Amino acid sequence: MFEKILIANRGEIALRIHRACREMGIRTVAVHSTADADAMHVRLADESVCIGPPPAKLSYLNIPAILSAATITGADAIHPGIGFMSENAKFADMVEQHGFTFIGPKPEHIRIMGDKVTAKQTVKKLGLPTVPGSDGALKDFEDAKKTADSIGYPVLIKASAGGGGKGMKVAANPDELEDAYTLARSEALAAFGNDEVYMEKYLQRPRHIEVQLLGDTHGNAVHFGERDCSIQRRHQKVIEEAPSPGLNANERQEIGKKAAEVIRGIGYRGVGTIEFLYEQGQFYFIEMNTRLQVEHTISEMITGIDLVREQIRVAAGLPLSYKQSDIEFNGHAIECRINAENPETFIPAPGKVQGYHPPGGLGVRVDSALYDGYRVPPHYDSMIAKLIVHGTNRNECLLRLRRALEEFVIGGIDTTLPLHRRLVGEHDFINGDYDIHWLEEYLENK
Ligand code: ADP
Repeated sequence: MFEKILIANRGEIALRIHRACREMGIRTVAVHSTADADAMHVRLADESVCIGPPPAKLSYLNIPAILSAATITGADAIHPGIGFMSENAKFADMVEQHGFTFIGPKPEHIRIMGDKVTAKQTVKKLGLPTVPGSDGALKDFEDAKKTADSIGYPVLIKASAGGGGKGMKVAANPDELEDAYTLARSEALAAFGNDEVYMEKYLQRPRHIEVQLLGDTHGNAVHFGERDCSIQRRHQKVIEEAPSPGLNANERQEIGKKAAEVIRGIGYRGVGTIEFLYEQGQFYFIEMNTRLQVEHTISEMITGIDLVREQIRVAAGLPLSYKQSDIEFNGHAIECRINAENPETFIPAPGKVQGYHPPGGLGVRVDSALYDGYRVPPHYDSMIAKLIVHGTNRNECLLRLRRALEEFVIGGIDTTLPLHRRLVGEHDFINGDYDIHWLEEYLENK
């Protein structure tokens, strides 16, 4: 097992990884920008190294600085966390070339799944259903027209290199196709330096369902059930729950099994998530994330398994400590992502936290790096806390979530807590009756 892990990230996820290491007896190295010198992950780590000024490009994305920090401190392995370097195959390559272990999948798997066209072709061959659409990338506008006519409108143009909902445009009818095609390409070029796009049928009322997976280097793979992440704004998840209120036990088992077979089939190591859209009893693969995800916490709550610990164990070459039949599912969990943003306009609201009181009690977990007096810097993602609640069933979970949200105090800055308090009182949410468009429609109509 590793003796020392460098955590190449910040905020709540750096703290989350530190906590797993601590419990495993592994020493930790925090890296930080000058803006994060007082951050909680820096305070709690055994050692810390400043790797650059506030802009992420110069610090958390600065490969030479991160590798130097690992060398100076004598770390054995690097955990990339979420975002930043976590899906950068070149970084994973360089980490290994410099003699450290990358706590994540093989670089080749990051590459295959990072290109959505290749990812789709790969999983299709392994038996997963995909959204009807173009056979690979679109060659030109003529190709787009022909494909749209054959699959039928509305269609969605998506960037092969896509992420974060960028480079995605809907065409409701043939008149809108040219604009959608041109806009998606230019947005993709600006965001990813690659204007390759593909086409999918635009599903009208799907749920976003994803399966949490884990594979080791000994040919084993298991799933931890699904998460429903349909409550989204601008293709970004806001609330997630497990299990999904929209699936039955058969569907749940089937999709979990199929997804685990895919990662076994490619010899995948580490944690990963296969994402689907689900509509009228059908699953359609959309992408695979080759890393830990923000919402991994709800899968942990319903299975009682520390996924970061498992991720570290398989990176060290150990076999999985669980067979599929050992993984038991208990109760229901919901996560609210709390952002430092105005709850009406969603404009980021960095600044000094004055008064911090997280909720507690049975079944309540808060993953956050906040403390009273902490200054939320303006340079990074605005998510500042995750409230995760577990109950023996969905109803208990909802009641507990409402209670925990009432208790939660983050003073001094605007946060999205008031939005979450409203959402948990909405009938559709209480009934589990929502799809990927529900939140946007709710926000427009209120
Ligand atoms: P990204 O990597 O940019 O997040 P995804 O492929 O994961 O892109 O899609 C993000 C979100 O966009 C999905 O959760 C869903 O809300 C929507 N979406 C993607 N593909 C389709 C589709 N074919 N039809 C309808 N909505 C879609």
